Amino acid sequence: MILIDGKKAAAELRAELKEEVAELKSKHNKVPGLTVILIGDLTPSQIYVRNKEKSANEVGLKSEVIKYPDSVEEKTVLEKIQELNSDETVSGILVQLPLPKHIDKQKVIEAIDPSKDVDGFHPMNVGNLSSGYESSIPCTPLGCYLLIKKIEPNLSGKKAVVVGRSNLNGKPMTQLLLKENCTVTITHSKTKDLKAECLEADIIVAAVGIPELVRGDWVKRDAIVIDVGINKTDNGIVGDVHFDEVSKNAKALTPVPGGVGPMTIACLLKNTIDCFKRSQI
Ligand code: NAD
Repeated sequence: MILIDGKKAAAELRAELKEEVAELKSKHNKVPGLTVILIGDLTPSQIYVRNKEKSANEVGLKSEVIKYPDSVEEKTVLEKIQELNSDETVSGILVQLPLPKHIDKQKVIEAIDPSKDVDGFHPMNVGNLSSGYESSIPCTPLGCYLLIKKIEPNLSGKKAVVVGRSNLNGKPMTQLLLKENCTVTITHSKTKDLKAECLEADIIVAAVGIPELVRGDWVKRDAIVIDVGINKTDNGIVGDVHFDEVSKNAKALTPVPGGVGPMTIACLLKNTIDCFKRSQI
């Protein structure tokens, strides 16, 4: 079984991006800039943002974090986004989710200029992705996609099963696999026989949030299995895939942690650089 090393793949991607930033700097005399808005003091969000900032600095991006207290008014955040939209030094804007209840998430997402939407959540980018046009692609599914392509460069005709239909993971993942000419089944909490669906798959991407949902006898021999889940349990962090069981059957599997997670941040940097490049055309 191939253990898909997300840490290594992310380090390689960051190294490529670092070179690209250096080239862009010499060509344009400026570097791509990422601005993250962090609202409130939720610890996981603070950790994510700190890691994003560290990685951005490492590849040479200009990075900035704007922090607001939990009590910040929605209007203040929307005004800041407008300001960043017209700031030429800002290539990418990310508002760290989740937001406090009094702030409308959709309004915030739609306020971001689609050309600076590094999370790929703006309806314009969602539409472009599903139409097969150039767009920002949500970072986690993009990371999954790059890991799958490392194992199997030609996905044409493969049967893929995506478990979970969130806007963040399942739906964009489906679009990326479709674009590669996979036959894709998207499954969710109302799917009648998830095991039977998974048993058909050459590729399984599990993004559910249920610890170890995908079991060993759900997986065909030679399947590639990507585990997006991050679940806190009494036994530590586990994914949505039962690692010990599935590793006995699958051709390739991502561990949790150290699989998809590191790729997510690296893809955020990639998206920032891609936004910058499109803005220079
Ligand atoms: P979500 O809660 O928004 O969506 C979960 C999806 O799973 C839903 O579409 C739901 O229909 C489906 N589902 C629920 N129960 C199911 C069942 N029994 N069978 C089949 N489908 C079922 O979750 P999300 O935001 O997509 O996150 C999923 C997981 O991925 C979580 O564990 C989250 O922490 C993790 N995550 C990881 C990363 C990363 O970088 N690795 C990034 C984002 C999210």
